[in-house]
Amino acid sequence: ESKLQQVHKHIRAFPDFPKKGIMFRDICPILKDPAALTAVIDLFEDHVRKNHLQVDLIVGLDARGFLFGPLLAQRLDVGFVLVRKKGKLPGNTVTVEYDLEYGKAEAEIQEDAVAPGQTILLIDDLLATGGTLYAACELMKKQQAEVLGCMVVIELKELNGRDKLKPHNVFSLVQY
Ligand code: IMP
Repeated sequence: ESKLQQVHKHIRAFPDFPKKGIMFRDICPILKDPAALTAVIDLFEDHVRKNHLQVDLIVGLDARGFLFGPLLAQRLDVGFVLVRKKGKLPGNTVTVEYDLEYGKAEAEIQEDAVAPGQTILLIDDLLATGGTLYAACELMKKQQAEVLGCMVVIELKELNGRDKLKPHNVFSLVQY
């Protein structure tokens, strides 16, 4: 059984969550299975080592990007930085506003988290419309960091998040 098959097997679908018409993809079974979680991090690590020679930081998105990001960062021997929903981070912060399906949200990082010129990879559990990762890219731009690419476990292809994030590259393990 390949690592990808192992990852695939540990993703569940819940229809009509969090509201009617949405098919929610749940990565919790991956976290519950050490071999599946190792497979995820192995696949991310292989991708980074093959494609990105110089990575300074892994930047994870609130909240499920925090589950995978630090594990990957440790493998690569680089630091991990958090992009959080507004109001969660102490000290001076930089904020961007972005659109949700209904209304707006704000993403934030600590002002000193990323230095100008640093090369970073963004990570989250899932790419849907791309709005969340797009906001994170905007934050990186404000900090003059260089986004090397985005990484997700799951990509929902019909929502075209990949196009929204251009010219940044998206690497996904499983596509629906
Ligand atoms: P986007 O901004 O539309 O790309 O939505 C991506 C964000 O929403 C990510 O932070 C995901 O964690 C979350 N999300 C959207 N749909 C799902 C889903 O089906 N399962 C898990 N998370 C989801």
